[in-house]
Order: sequence, then C-alpha cells, then structure tokens
Amino acid sequence: MAVTLDQQLLDILACPSDDHAPLRVGTPDDPDADVLTCTECGRRYPVTDGIPVLLLDEAEHPTDRTTADSP
Ligand SMILES: [Zn+2]
Repeated sequence: MAVTLDQQLLDILACPSDDHAPLRVGTPDDPDADVLTCTECGRRYPVTDGIPVLLLDEAEHPTDRTTADSP
C-alpha cells in the first residue's frame, strides 16, 4: 500500500541527517513502499500508521546492507 502524505507535509519534512535534504515517498525500486527516502543520502525512514518516523536510529541506510565480504 502506498504512503499517502500531503505534498505540503512532504515539503516541510526533511532528512534528520546532516544533509537535511527533501524526502520522497517510496524507494527508487518500489514507489509504493511505506517508506520515505532521502533524496540526498538515500536513507529510508519507515512510515508507521501514516506517521513518518524520521529518526536516524530507525533509518535504513542502503549502504549498510552491502557487505564487502559476504558470508
Ligand atoms: Zn539524508
């Protein structure tokens, strides 16, 4: 199910990281994902019950998943 957030709200929201970049709904791979993706650092913030959780601790960084030495 796609996240439906007001464009007005999206305009206000910004990445809590140092870049403070605007966020976009979904991910490049899955526009319907219940996440907000930072347009700068690529961190993904979960949206719980329609409420964006903009916490760095909760964020998922794409590069965190890429392991140089995979098991
Ligand atoms: Zn960011």
